[in-house]
Amino acid sequence: MASEKEAALAATPSDAPTIFDKIINKEIPSTVVYEDDKVLAFRDIAPQAPTHILIIPKVRDGLTGLSKAEERHTEILGRLLYTAKLVAKQEGLDDGFRIVINDGPKGCQSVYHIHVHLLGGRQMNWPPG
Ligand code: AMP
Repeated sequence: MASEKEAALAATPSDAPTIFDKIINKEIPSTVVYEDDKVLAFRDIAPQAPTHILIIPKVRDGLTGLSKAEERHTEILGRLLYTAKLVAKQEGLDDGFRIVINDGPKGCQSVYHIHVHLLGGRQMNWPPG
């Protein structure tokens, strides 16, 4: 399987449907850890930490990535972060966790449906790679 970096460099930024649409529509399986009317949180298929969860809006509304955010997206952006906090608590990440939003090829984004990575369960390092 290609590395995350290779996958990101191979991905073309676009408005085309992504694999996350299939996850939202339950056309392919995922391990959902939280769901409400606006957001879905599920375990990353290639975890980079003992806990690695993706939090996504159910309706993309042009938010292929954070760089495409407009004023109308502020509510859902806040909701994604608040959900990350709820899921971190649910996962028992009481000693800390990391939130990541990759954007564009240089940011190592491979799926063009905005998503928040929630990583935890091990000591994180800084600076990131
Ligand atoms: P990014 O590189 O920031 O765009 O993150 C995309 C993430 O989606 C990667 O961490 C992948 O491992 C993850 N991913 C891709 N396909 C699936 C899938 N079917 N189920 C769960 N996670 C996935």
